[in-house]
Amino acid sequence: MKTQCPFCYETFDVDDSLSREKVICKKCNTPFAAYPPVDIPKYEKQVATTNITTLTAKCAHCGIDFNYEVPSHIKNTDNWGCGSLIAFIGIIICLFFWPIGLLIIIFGLVFCFAGGKSNATMKARCYNCNYINDVPIK
Ligand SMILES: [Zn+2]
Ligand SMILES: [Zn+2]
Repeated sequence: MKTQCPFCYETFDVDDSLSREKVICKKCNTPFAAYPPVDIPKYEKQVATTNITTLTAKCAHCGIDFNYEVPSHIKNTDNWGCGSLIAFIGIIICLFFWPIGLLIIIFGLVFCFAGGKSNATMKARCYNCNYINDVPIK
């Protein structure tokens, strides 16, 4: 039967007895479960839903506009982590002195919903001068 490597998308033939068994890709050497051709569209679907947003930023070093890619899974997640951590610290401080703890919880939640998202950045390399820029992820 035919199967397709989900990592490098190479298609090749495997013995029918290996259906859904672990095989090693002949091209990239990555192990994966060999699915019969019927299930191959599932891989293609997964690839298609891995959204990458291409954005443009101005390089702080050479001033050129360069494109960078933001994978959807890093979008909007960083600040939830930070904000909920701040809120969590606030809850602990509440146990000792609630007025300050409460303020910190509110700050953490605001950070989650408002400011945090728009201020989120990632590192992107300028293709022209190789300078690593801090760029927004939305
Ligand atoms: Zn492969
Ligand atoms: Zn540059």
